[in-house]
Amino acid sequence: MKITNKHNLPQVILDWIDNSNKERQTQLEQGDFTVTQLLANPKEQYLLQRNPEIEIDASRFIALLSGEAWHTGIAKNSTDRRANGALVEKRYSVKYHGWKITGQPDIIDGDYLMDYKESTVGRFAKGVPQEYENQLNFYHYILTSNGIHPKFMGIWVKYKDYMPSRSGTNHYPDAQMEYFPVQIWDYDEQDAFIKSRLEAHVGNLNSQLDKMDMPQCTDEERWYSNEIHAVMKKGGKRSLHNAATHDDAQAWIDGDNTKVKKDQLVIEHRPGIYRKCENYCFASSVCDQYNNT
Ligand code: SF4
Repeated sequence: MKITNKHNLPQVILDWIDNSNKERQTQLEQGDFTVTQLLANPKEQYLLQRNPEIEIDASRFIALLSGEAWHTGIAKNSTDRRANGALVEKRYSVKYHGWKITGQPDIIDGDYLMDYKESTVGRFAKGVPQEYENQLNFYHYILTSNGIHPKFMGIWVKYKDYMPSRSGTNHYPDAQMEYFPVQIWDYDEQDAFIKSRLEAHVGNLNSQLDKMDMPQCTDEERWYSNEIHAVMKKGGKRSLHNAATHDDAQAWIDGDNTKVKKDQLVIEHRPGIYRKCENYCFASSVCDQYNNT
């Protein structure tokens, strides 16, 4: 992977990216797979492995660094918890069907397996996202194999887009950090999930298939956002209402749902987008699926 710097980011950020990538490489070398790798999109991993000279701009790493800084702060300030027996950012491994999988939960404190996330209010609006429940159960399985048996799991999320002025209104969180319990699956469910992730990756990484034969990413893996028809005030920037179809948007206008006069309202069509492909996938420049759609 070659890091470019098209936006002239300062050297300290480039050094941070470099160190962070080295650290990630060290983690990868401790086993065959990390939990993070197995939970990630198999096709992205495949493309990155097959294209070691791929160019990625430094600006694409900023979100990663931000999340990393949050974890560094937690780990650095856990001295007291460590002294009380908490296990902080320790890497554990399990041999699974011949593959060594390693994972590093944030904190195991007493009976609790706790993860700290940086996210958005919208992402947690319906509770814990499925991928985080998957991740914690993956950790739980590895810990159990190491003789550690957390009885409870949970996530403390820090909202990076939190607006204090909306606190307590319309189901908006009361504070910038919030706790969510996470369900512990039974052993068979955890085992079946891990097996399915391993198969998804091993099938790809070991195959000699060319790009045409590679499995395609699903809409979910590509973070597809449905198209919307936004009702806007003429000249305004914010949508007053988002509808799935043009007819629904028109019906909302006809239903007198706003004090804005009807002749001041317009419907703006916003096509669906693949957010992961557009902004977050490191392999997008060499991806046939993304570049051909
Ligand atoms: S660019 Fe999109 S389709 Fe291609 S590997 Fe990445 S997420 Fe998948």
